[in-house]
Amino acid sequence: LSIAVTRERHEGETRCAVTPDTVKKFVALGATVLVEAGTGAGSSIPDAEYVAAGAVVKPDTRAVLDGADLVLKVRGPTQQEITALKPGAVVIALLDAYREKDTVAALAGAGATAFAMEFVPRITRAQVMDALSSQANLAGYRAVIEAANAYGRGFPMMMTAAGTVAAAKVFVMGVGVAGLQAIATARRLGAVVTATDVRPATKEQVESLGAKFLAVEDEEFKNAQTAGGYAKAMSEEYKAKQAALTGEHIKKQDIVITTALIPGRAAPVLVTADHVASMKPGSVIVDLAIENGGNVQGGKLGEVVTTPNGVSIVGLANLPGRIASDASSLYAKNLVAFAGLLIKEGGLTVDLEDEILKAAVVTHGGAVVHEGVRG
Ligand code: NAD
Repeated sequence: LSIAVTRERHEGETRCAVTPDTVKKFVALGATVLVEAGTGAGSSIPDAEYVAAGAVVKPDTRAVLDGADLVLKVRGPTQQEITALKPGAVVIALLDAYREKDTVAALAGAGATAFAMEFVPRITRAQVMDALSSQANLAGYRAVIEAANAYGRGFPMMMTAAGTVAAAKVFVMGVGVAGLQAIATARRLGAVVTATDVRPATKEQVESLGAKFLAVEDEEFKNAQTAGGYAKAMSEEYKAKQAALTGEHIKKQDIVITTALIPGRAAPVLVTADHVASMKPGSVIVDLAIENGGNVQGGKLGEVVTTPNGVSIVGLANLPGRIASDASSLYAKNLVAFAGLLIKEGGLTVDLEDEILKAAVVTHGGAVVHEGVRG
């Protein structure tokens, strides 16, 4: 069994798909692990550490991919990488399959079996391979750190001889995995935290973290969670009520962190241009949904925008990549667990009847087999 890991080519991607720790795990399963030189650089892992863990490090991408049975990546492979795959090779990555249509088509064309880590179902057996959660948790933490960095004041209340510094008021919109970690991190820094979501189950979670919950709790709210645990797209009527309620609140906040996503759709707008205009100078908004279209009007992907009224809208991409060592370490462990479903007796066995593999497979046998992506 030959496992290949190449350098990430996606702009600004600092994470990597294996660590020395996970190389050892694959070697113990009987695999040969080939790693392209420089793969771990963004996560402070020198090539020598991969070699010490039992990997073979090669400088050339094609030489790494040549004959590989299993290719592990953070982002989907490039077109050039795909041309180097052998037919039937298995690729596992955060493919971003709904949007990266060309990559998906090329993988199908190359006869690869590609699995998207973002499609791993949120079931108990798959928790250990849940890369969305491992990365969202770090993104939520990092969002608060970015907010604190952009904010010209402190988070905790400080009573000093020269006077009192007030605690920052932080409002977290969208309380999934990232939002919960943002609440916890902001609380640890001493902020006064409030949060909102459309899923009723989040109310108790918010309160258990010592934050206050705020939402339009009508009939639609009571039914806003899908069987899969995700949020539904809300009606225009609900959105108007929500905007009125949160608008009054946003005005008084120092920091707003937005994380709201709906699978397979553009992120909902939760902070309108009017909301932004109502905020005090020096306030900060961090939009974690920016890569999915954004929750904040006026935010720009990859940029920190300062509005005419002095509000910073932080739209940095790939927040997990700003805490790359931890993000790589957790993602690499997610991959070991996922690959564990395929590695049998020193070889690869793809059993698409397994409910996790069935949910995550995107291309197989020369075709795009994932219904949502195909449609
Ligand atoms: P997500 O990233 O899809 O969305 C982030 C949050 O935004 C969600 O809480 C969602 O309800 C919220 N949101 C969407 N539209 C909104 C709107 N208009 N206004 C306000 N908030 C809005 O969420 P996630 O972090 O991936 O979590 C999704 C679900 O999966 C949750 O129910 C979570 O508990 C569950 N989960 C389960 C497991 C497991 O059991 N293995 C692991 C992780 C997450």
